[in-house]
Amino acid sequence: MADHFNRYPLKHFAATVADCMGLELPEPYAKPITWASRILKERLGGPADRVVLYHADAVGQYIWQKYPYLFAPVYQHTSLTLPFVSTVESFTPVAHASMYTGMDPEGHGIKTYVRPQLACSTLYDELIRAGKRPCILCPKDSTFEHIFAGRDMDYFFVDNAVGVQEKALELIASDKYDVISIHTFDYDDAAHAFGPESKQALNALCLEAEGFHRLAQALEQFRGKHRILMTYSPDHGQHATMAGVIDEAQVDGLDIGSFAGMHGTKLIEDMNIMHFFGTL
Ligand SMILES: [Zn+2]
Repeated sequence: MADHFNRYPLKHFAATVADCMGLELPEPYAKPITWASRILKERLGGPADRVVLYHADAVGQYIWQKYPYLFAPVYQHTSLTLPFVSTVESFTPVAHASMYTGMDPEGHGIKTYVRPQLACSTLYDELIRAGKRPCILCPKDSTFEHIFAGRDMDYFFVDNAVGVQEKALELIASDKYDVISIHTFDYDDAAHAFGPESKQALNALCLEAEGFHRLAQALEQFRGKHRILMTYSPDHGQHATMAGVIDEAQVDGLDIGSFAGMHGTKLIEDMNIMHFFGTL
């Protein structure tokens, strides 16, 4: 059977989120997926005024296909899924740049694993122009720290996944930000080291899904006060390499360059991802 790539390129992400907030993004942003944003706005009862974008790095669609039960904490708080296709190349800075600029890699200029500060307009710039307050929360040296630097907005850089959780809960409770972007890459790290379906990677996936669940629970306190959109939005997937199929006991002995999981290719495992959208 041939590989079937998902329909929607990630460049539609920015305008779809903005449309849920009642904000129209200018050219050259790719158009919103309006049938989806219409459903979400209906459920919200109007434009969203609080948005949490949760970017669990490198979670491929096939992981969801094979282990749907691990996504139960995400399902619990979401009601719509969209099948996205990642960028070529399927690396974090390329994909996140497309998600937040609404452009293909040729348009925003990040075509491989490089992390320059984006000079073009991003969703953050459009939000700030519209009088909204976005912020970014991520571990230190995340792609978000580099490519979205230099905007007149708040950035929160933490040490690890626990730090992400603690700070995210604090930011939600502060009720200060219209949009909170959160980047986590514990699954990505574990999948590189041990393979995308290793118990270490799937454990990290569970912890990230649990994290999403906790944030959704924290958002509950604002039910009725705000119209809240939250998304679980990976950037690309990851495939097992030859190193990834060797016995796990041997992984410890591999040199650092021998990844058990990798991405960056056009393989279906790297390219197809699922985004989950929830409303409160
Ligand atoms: Zn990676």
